[in-house]
Amino acid sequence: MERNIDRIITAHRQREGAGFTVRRPVPTLGLEHLDPFLLIDEMGPIDFAPGKALGAPDHPHRGFETISYILEGAVDHEDSAGHKGRIGPGDVQWMTAGGGIIHSEEPARELLEKGGRVHGFQIWVNLPSRLKLTRPRYQELSAGQIPKVQSADGLARGVIIAGEALGVRAAIATHTPIVYQDWTFDEGGEVSVDIHKEQRVLVYVFRGAVELGGRAVTDGQLAVLGAGDSVRLRGMPSGRALLLAGTPLREPVARYGPFVMNTQAELEQAFSDFESGRMGEITRTATVG
Ligand code: MN
Repeated sequence: MERNIDRIITAHRQREGAGFTVRRPVPTLGLEHLDPFLLIDEMGPIDFAPGKALGAPDHPHRGFETISYILEGAVDHEDSAGHKGRIGPGDVQWMTAGGGIIHSEEPARELLEKGGRVHGFQIWVNLPSRLKLTRPRYQELSAGQIPKVQSADGLARGVIIAGEALGVRAAIATHTPIVYQDWTFDEGGEVSVDIHKEQRVLVYVFRGAVELGGRAVTDGQLAVLGAGDSVRLRGMPSGRALLLAGTPLREPVARYGPFVMNTQAELEQAFSDFESGRMGEITRTATVG
C-alpha cells in the first residue's frame, strides 16, 4: 500500500549557531518533534561575502545523533574525542553524540577567506533510552563512498545515505533503522521505495515540487506521510527532496538546547556534566601565522 500525505508543514526561518539562517520544518510552533526526528535544518543556499561565513563554535550534545550532509561549501569540525575533519560537497558526517561530546562546526578556512556558497542539511535523530549514554561515534563518508542509484529511465536519481532503494543499500551503519535519501527528478521521473510499515516517513522538498499521491509538495514544505509500506515520489516537472524514515521510539522527550534526554533529571545531569567538564574539551594545537 502506498503512503499518502497526512499533513504538510511549511519550514520557517530561524537563526542558528553564530547567527546563520536555516529553514526548519521541525521543530516548529506546536510540534516538538516527529519521533524519532528531533530537528531538520536546511542551511542556505546562501552566498557569504569574504570574512562573513558563520558556523557553530564549541558546543556540547548528548542523547541523540546529528547527521550533516553538505551540498555546497565545506565545514571543518573538531571535537572533544579528538576527531577532526572536513565535510565537503556530497559528504556526510553521522555523529552519534551518545553520552556526550563537545564539537565545533565552522566554515572551511578558504570559504571564510574568499566567501562562497553554502548549502546543506543537519538532521537530529533521537536515540532510545538504552543508547542515550552510548560511546560517541563518528562515521564520515565522502561523496564517492555514498551509493547512488537511478531509475531505469534515468529520470529519478537518488543518493542513498541510509536505508535502501532500487536494490541498493547504504554504506552507513545506524543505531536504529533510518532511511535518509536525496532524490532529484527530471520531468516525468518517478521512484517507488519500500519502507517498513512501522516507520514514520517524511519528505522534505528543497527545490521545485514533488508529487505524492496526486498532491504537490513544494520547495520548503515537509510532508508527513500516513500508513503504508511504500512511497512513490514523482518530480513535477523537476524537484529535489529528502526522503526520511525512522522507527518511532515512543519514549518521553526531555529536551533543552543541545541535550535530548527522557526525563528532566537526566537533562539537569547533562547540564551539570557539561558545566563540570565531564564531556571533555577540544584540544587545539596552536597554529603559527
Ligand atoms: Mn552541533
